[in-house]
Amino acid sequence: MKKVFILLLQVVLFSSLNLYSTSLTRDNVIKTYDCHILGNALPDSLVKLIYILDTSVSDSIIVSYKFDGHMSPASGTYLEITELNKTIYLNSSNTFLDTLELKVWGTGNSMISILSSTKQEYENKENQDYRFLIITTTTSDYSVINQDSIHTENLIVLNESPFSSTRHYFHINGKVVFNDINQNSILKGLYKSKVFWFFIFNNDFSTLYKPYIVSGNYESTCDINGNFDLIWQVDYPLSERNSCKLIVYVQKSNYACNDLVSGGGDFIIGSGGFGTRTFAGKQYLILDIDGEETSHNYDNLEIKINSLDGAILRNLALGREFHETRYQNLSEPSTIGVIRKDKFGQSNWAGVFHSEFSAVFQCTPNWIEIRSDYCNPEVILHEYGHYVHFRLAGLSTNNTNFLRYLDWANTPSDLKEGWAMFVSFANRSYNSNKYGDDYTIHRYHGDTEKAPFCYNGLYRFSNLSYYNQPGYCKFACYLQNVYDDYSENDFMHIDYDGKNNDDIGLGQLVYSVLDDHPFVSTSTYHNYLKSVTNQEMSNSINDIWEFMNDDEHPMRPAQITSLSLYQIAIGEPPALGYKLSWNSMSYANSYNNQET
Ligand SMILES: [Zn+2]
Repeated sequence: MKKVFILLLQVVLFSSLNLYSTSLTRDNVIKTYDCHILGNALPDSLVKLIYILDTSVSDSIIVSYKFDGHMSPASGTYLEITELNKTIYLNSSNTFLDTLELKVWGTGNSMISILSSTKQEYENKENQDYRFLIITTTTSDYSVINQDSIHTENLIVLNESPFSSTRHYFHINGKVVFNDINQNSILKGLYKSKVFWFFIFNNDFSTLYKPYIVSGNYESTCDINGNFDLIWQVDYPLSERNSCKLIVYVQKSNYACNDLVSGGGDFIIGSGGFGTRTFAGKQYLILDIDGEETSHNYDNLEIKINSLDGAILRNLALGREFHETRYQNLSEPSTIGVIRKDKFGQSNWAGVFHSEFSAVFQCTPNWIEIRSDYCNPEVILHEYGHYVHFRLAGLSTNNTNFLRYLDWANTPSDLKEGWAMFVSFANRSYNSNKYGDDYTIHRYHGDTEKAPFCYNGLYRFSNLSYYNQPGYCKFACYLQNVYDDYSENDFMHIDYDGKNNDDIGLGQLVYSVLDDHPFVSTSTYHNYLKSVTNQEMSNSINDIWEFMNDDEHPMRPAQITSLSLYQIAIGEPPALGYKLSWNSMSYANSYNNQET
């Protein structure tokens, strides 16, 4: 039995009618979102078949796998043909992600086919979807042909090194960027993603060559501004090739995200461990090479990635960096799969975190889904925050503790969602080196420092996406004030002068507490936090807690310089809100500023 837990950031949308009518126009009620082999399909090795399925209906789905040839599930023995059927119930808003471990039993050809169908039929709609892969394995290499021509998988020929007396020198530098639509479309770098190079000969784009290099690198990792720098030397008779090109690919993953799936674009997997995708829209560079020359220099190249995938990858890279800066003892795994989707069936979710605990007691895989029109830092880092919580509280060091997993899974929503809202804001503050983020387009900016003072007449915490869930908001804002370590001096409000209950800077503790103990409620978290701090801290923590429950209880928010009641709605009695003035703040030296 597999159990899938889902956490989401639900957005209050006024366009739910649109979503509904769009889904009615779909011709297929079931659709394969992705199907590929992960790993090197070389003789006697293990690879993974990744299969992702989406439906627009809630129904039982029968997934029939057929393995014909030299590859079949690793759990079984070798047979010429192996069939495997799975029945799952899929909610229209959910995605099915299956990973099957396959054994490559030797050399040969295999056809893997997958037929998925809904149990019920639907009028005028296709209720089946079919996919196949053809894998050819030789003693030293393999190739994969995917039925979907958009996802042609190219064979990489490794280390082709015919003898040559000609030594070529290459130096290529540039940057990988995307238009950050969340920040006035300024160009941002694709941080921590890798850039690879390959040769193409005679315009044959189906084969990418990586000749043996004398010195240098096959890959370069982008810095915070997206800069990459590749230098290598190769002894290779380029001049003997009729047409010689260099292709520079950007990896659709980074050290936080192992494989971003967003449909479209080319797709390459090759021997040598390159589980690499390019982006929708062919965002790579092809350079013509003059084989008669021995020195090849290309400066200031620009590779532009689409803005949605760019935002996901950059924010996740900063997300991992932020959390590991705050707390070094996070459990593995450190990368997570990500799927960008145009919609979640008929639901209006902005993002979802999935975690699965399989029958073989492995807390894997985990994955995040982000809706295309919510590729903004708040949502991306909120879902990543759920993943970090899972790594803290759901995983044990040996990754096999089912009871610990259940403790995490049973954690109430106010703790889970409060945590995700808090770390999303803290992470954005880290990224931009100031409170909040320049991100002002979205109407929910999710500032958990300001939130306890925001009212819209009906709700406190009205600037948070979960403003109608005060339990979530209270805990998010409580965590923010416990975590935050700004000095009081210039930021102290006179109303609270003399009260020692300001931001107290227990940045490590908010993490380690989750790591140490499963918590059944936010109040057990709070009580534990008080029990491991000194009296003064404990009093502050308590004041923060009380203030979140009762706005009359004084607490000094760090950056407010003016706080006064004003009338926000006519009525009897008139609704009152707080009018706030702010000072911008900067981080203490111990913080890293990661944005430019
Ligand atoms: Zn959430």
